[in-house]
Amino acid sequence: MAASKGVWKGVCMKKYSLRTKLSLSYIFIVILSVLLISVITNLLLDKHFKDYIRENQERKNREIAFQVSQQYRAGEAWDTAAIENICINALRQGMIIKVVNPSGEIIWDARTHDNALCEQILEHMARNMSSRYPNWEGQYVESTYPVTHMLNEVGKVVIGYYGPFYYSDSDLAFINTINKLLIGVGIFSLILSLLLGSVMAKRLSMPISRVINTAQTISRGYFDDRITEPSSTKEIAQLTETINNLAQTLETQEVLRKRLTADVAHELRTPLATLQSHMEAMIDGIWEPNADRLKSCHEEIMRISRLVGDLEKLARYESENLILTKTSFDISELVSNIIKNFESDFVQKNIDIRFTGVKEIITADKDKISQVIINLLSNALKYTQQGGVVQVTVKGGHNAAEIRVKDNGTGISQEDLPHIFERFYRADKSRNRLTGGAGIGLTITRAIVAAHKGSIQVNSKVDEGTEFIITLPKMAD
Ligand code: ADP
Repeated sequence: MAASKGVWKGVCMKKYSLRTKLSLSYIFIVILSVLLISVITNLLLDKHFKDYIRENQERKNREIAFQVSQQYRAGEAWDTAAIENICINALRQGMIIKVVNPSGEIIWDARTHDNALCEQILEHMARNMSSRYPNWEGQYVESTYPVTHMLNEVGKVVIGYYGPFYYSDSDLAFINTINKLLIGVGIFSLILSLLLGSVMAKRLSMPISRVINTAQTISRGYFDDRITEPSSTKEIAQLTETINNLAQTLETQEVLRKRLTADVAHELRTPLATLQSHMEAMIDGIWEPNADRLKSCHEEIMRISRLVGDLEKLARYESENLILTKTSFDISELVSNIIKNFESDFVQKNIDIRFTGVKEIITADKDKISQVIINLLSNALKYTQQGGVVQVTVKGGHNAAEIRVKDNGTGISQEDLPHIFERFYRADKSRNRLTGGAGIGLTITRAIVAAHKGSIQVNSKVDEGTEFIITLPKMAD
């Protein structure tokens, strides 16, 4: 059920290019930011602007009341001409003024002066407010300011306006300018984000497309393709490096695979050719099928058989799930027993084999560890000349045991050294048939050591000798 759901999802999910996704997210972020900035600006502006307008109204009222009070001259009449001047000026700003004396007699009244104009101004203010706030409910309000002279009230200035506050034409123009500015900034940011988004997306998607192309080329079997363009984006640089490493590994594997086929063919050709010619000679009656000739044929068959056996072993040890049957045993005892079995071969080749080791109990697969020791000893035997010395040492550490096999044989060149653990790699390319190895002993050795979570190291110098150091954890996991 879950699997079918996954398939369904995979089939139905619409795929967008990185470029589209990046551009869309840029646009989304910009739209969101511009909207947020506009809303916040408008909210803040509204609040502060309203406060400012209110304060400004109050300040203007007081100023006008003061100016009017300046027109009172003790013992004389009010200067109505000056008052009219002030009040008409104020009327233009939306303030309808009435000046009365303490007994309520009108000294100057805007409505008397021009009632139609007053109404027109109030209507204009109402229109201004409802253009900004469609549901605005304002009304005509009046504030009264007493005019005093020598602490006596000598009159009142009544200022009427559209309340609780109103926006004049210039106030509205200011708000509109701010809004237009915000829209302008929004459009500019949007265009900028589109340009930037597509440039960024292009810069990101181009190297990814290059990686995809290379990966496709590699999947078609062209392992020599590499990505050479550097990238300043960390993840893309890592991706490029990974693909290049993958291609390198595949290329190496391909070389090894080809070499394996060539090696197997080469190894088979010589014994098969010998067998064929011997058999033909015997069938044609040129050769007597005597014991010596049959023995020679048998040796060639054994050579083929050994190669097939090696191939089988390699397949088994290199398979991912190498099964280990672990027991606890003394590694020194195991090594010294194997050396005893090899002793006659070493004596025959006049090689001095020495062993030093103390009792070290480890938990491991005894048979497979034996295989490791045998491989190292047979190599030491193969690659050490007569009169040489092979030193084997077993040491114990805190958590691990260490086995060293050191010879003073041919040694391995620096260029061969990194490859000796590879399948079918043989440093002696001449394929000296006397050594007889197919180049898989160390591959198996490394696979066994790795399965035990141990490590293998090699130090070697041409004509001086080789030392293999194996470290095995003492305890099983
Ligand atoms: P082979 O069966 O050819 O010995 P191995 O995998 O055991 O294969 O070793 C790979 C190659 O490493 C050998 O062909 C040889 O060139 C080199 N080699 C391994 N052990 C030694 C050693 N003790 N001294 C010199 N060369 C060695």
